[in-house]
Amino acid sequence: MNGPFVIPVRDIVRRPGEMREFRLDLRVPEKWGEGLVSVPESESLELDVRLESVHEGILASGEAHTTFSGVCGRCLRDIAEGVEVEFQELFAYSGSEETDFEVQDDHVDLETLVRDAVVLSLPFQPVCQPDCPGLDPVTGVRRTADAEPNAEPIDPRWAALQDYIDHDTVNASGQQDRAENPAPRAENTEKS
Ligand SMILES: [Zn+2]
Repeated sequence: MNGPFVIPVRDIVRRPGEMREFRLDLRVPEKWGEGLVSVPESESLELDVRLESVHEGILASGEAHTTFSGVCGRCLRDIAEGVEVEFQELFAYSGSEETDFEVQDDHVDLETLVRDAVVLSLPFQPVCQPDCPGLDPVTGVRRTADAEPNAEPIDPRWAALQDYIDHDTVNASGQQDRAENPAPRAENTEKS
């Protein structure tokens, strides 16, 4: 058994009352979560864990702190936010009553436990801000321009759509201008 989330517990196995505490700075080994936001591979994860020897096995409890990232569910803006979760689980000695987690070869592997706690805490409908107004239902453009002093450039994923909208507007109201403007420039080029 090895891996960043595997912790040796040989010194407290079958010694009820004994306890060890660890603080680990780890990297998330793979992307955690499948929704609009997830914890990307290699994201840093801080783990505070307490391992207590109890009669049935090793009780693991603690906190994990990491950062999820993804997009706002309303306006598709990139977002990233810290997340802190608590966990607690008994790692039973093998041979005892059935359990999802077991002490194996005098080690406990916290990865599944921590991953599940983190993934469950990820917002299902993440937003960049609580009152995010989202996208205009007609144009698909963010409706945040007026509200924000520092309006960000349009997301590249929407830029093509914006061009399409601008183009349409010109065709509807200023077609003549568009047709005439290139002509003088072309003449100037020929003269010089
Ligand atoms: Zn948003």
